[in-house]
Amino acid sequence: MEFKESEDYLLELSRIHLNKGNSHNDHKPNVDYRESGYAIVNFYQLLIYRLGTELNLDVKESYNLDRNWFLLVYELDPKAVTQYQELIKKVNEVRNKLAHTIFAEPQTRDLEYLINQAKGSKSGLESLVGERKRGLRDRRTLANEYSKKIEFTKLWFKTPEPDYGESIRTNEALKEQLQQLKNFEKINIGRLDPESLESLISILDYTVNKIETMIESIYSYCPKCGGKIIATTETTTHYRGIGEDIEPYSYTVWTVIKCEKCGKLFEKNEETTDYI
Ligand SMILES: [Zn+2]
Repeated sequence: MEFKESEDYLLELSRIHLNKGNSHNDHKPNVDYRESGYAIVNFYQLLIYRLGTELNLDVKESYNLDRNWFLLVYELDPKAVTQYQELIKKVNEVRNKLAHTIFAEPQTRDLEYLINQAKGSKSGLESLVGERKRGLRDRRTLANEYSKKIEFTKLWFKTPEPDYGESIRTNEALKEQLQQLKNFEKINIGRLDPESLESLISILDYTVNKIETMIESIYSYCPKCGGKIIATTETTTHYRGIGEDIEPYSYTVWTVIKCEKCGKLFEKNEETTDYI
């Protein structure tokens, strides 16, 4: 069953019964007013229940309107919800009257008020719920970004470049930063709103950038002798032929990353090979 359709139907029912009730105003008891009341109360109950489920709140069919409404208000911006407080109070009044009497009629002005407010309050609450849902998504994205950044930065320590493990492990300033990173990891971000998460991420970024700069600087010196690491090009000539007839056949150009001082080779990549 589509709740939204049921809500529309209940609103329509309430209107029909109110009109019918008005057309035979002198009938006592006027059961149409009561039916109109049931329908519009149900409309609001269903609406609030549906919006609560859309936000995965712990709303229940067996809960009364106040309780489900409380759960919803608690999740939405309380200030934005205040304007509906009076309306919900009125719904409750009508509901109580119907529940505790056999033929008492709800006030027609109350019924009119509840019917007239139905569409507007429905779309108003729906848009608040929509905003909240987007907020929740943003929050999840940010929380994810936060954890990923920490995990990613820890990789600098866990899997350093070959030969650099020792330098990274023993660097005092880096040790401090790693401790800082672990402190970030301990923060319980579960209750933080998107704004706080964003602030926290920018503080984390500061530490992450610091670590990155420090590690990059370690990587720019030779782990063996401390010499500067340079990128340069080298050429290899290939020869062919036998004895006197040997002649150059091709040239290969390499990009080489090595220690300027001791010559330790870190990377050698072929750039081009030219044939003669
Ligand atoms: Zn070296």
